[in-house]
Amino acid sequence: MSKQELELYVEASGEPAYRGRQIFGALHRRRLRSFDEMTDLPKDFRARLAERATTSTLNVESRYVAEDGTRRYLMKTHDNLPVETVFIPEERRDTICFSSQSGCPLQCDFCLTAKLGLLRTLDAGEMVEQIIVALNDAYGVGTRTPRGTNLVAMGAGEPFLAFEPLMKALRIMADPDGLHIVPNRVTVSTAGVVPKIIELASIADRPHLAISLAAPTDELRDRLMPINKRWPLKELLAACKEFEESLKPGERFTFEYVLLDGVNDTDEHARQLANLLNRHELHAKVNLIPHNPADELPYRPSPEERVEAFKAILESKGVRAFVRRPRGRDIYAACGQLAARRVSNAVGQTLHQLS
Ligand code: SAH
Repeated sequence: MSKQELELYVEASGEPAYRGRQIFGALHRRRLRSFDEMTDLPKDFRARLAERATTSTLNVESRYVAEDGTRRYLMKTHDNLPVETVFIPEERRDTICFSSQSGCPLQCDFCLTAKLGLLRTLDAGEMVEQIIVALNDAYGVGTRTPRGTNLVAMGAGEPFLAFEPLMKALRIMADPDGLHIVPNRVTVSTAGVVPKIIELASIADRPHLAISLAAPTDELRDRLMPINKRWPLKELLAACKEFEESLKPGERFTFEYVLLDGVNDTDEHARQLANLLNRHELHAKVNLIPHNPADELPYRPSPEERVEAFKAILESKGVRAFVRRPRGRDIYAACGQLAARRVSNAVGQTLHQLS
């Protein structure tokens, strides 16, 4: 619930509105996990709340820690569906990658999450709670986050097929009495749901946008990302142009391109990609993502020299390109690896603090 919804909720049960604000602060700013801990609320009110409401709906089933410090949380919803969240420690500012759906309906051929199919779209509370769980584990319950946190909606699911709950979650997270993570700290990635790209172009207080391309031609993109049959490149890039024209200073807009050995990584593909972006007069930079492999996926990551050659061709044609370093590969926490995998190095000791 938003702060206002909580105010109305407590008022309906005969309590003053400020109690709702207190609960909001306890849940989001102090990140408390039970009504019992909210000792600034009258005891009998806490007891009544505990009978009718809950502070948490996600259950942390396991936590995995990668060699590079990346952490993956595998949680279950009240209806027993998997939700995964990844905490990525970084030098300047840590990043939390959250999921918008349990599973995913898109059938991108190179992505392991696709193998789950869509289980269910998450609600706003389930998105916000992922952040609370990750922050509490990384920094301790209720402590301030040392350098602020960046969020990316790049976990399982297609965020633009979860548009309403996503936007609600972002509003709740932005509240200064709560987590206070403003849209400027959030990046949402889409496989190319064109109407929502256009809708986002008209929204003032919005997150940064990233578009997953993966191929420079319709023929190849149809194969790798079937969503391309619904919204082909011409329509997608026209929407991107409209979005780019709406950019305000400080806003980021990027393309992501997963590099698949021998499939979409040749010199010719690089030239086609650069020409495509230039033809549409798009100036956004391209993040090149080495493929994260899995036994079930018929792809291999491009060799490092190929990645560098691909990047150099883009740059020679005036397209800014950056190579992303994969994080948390060894625990199935990297891009396209979220498929509710259980691996052997679960670290369970602190789970009582989380759930
Ligand atoms: N559905 C949204 C959000 C997921 S973001 C989207 O597609 O944008 C996940 C990012 O990881 C996307 O850019 C996707 O193309 C990329 N990806 C998927 N599977 C991958 C894999 N196995 N290795 C590397 N990147 C992958």
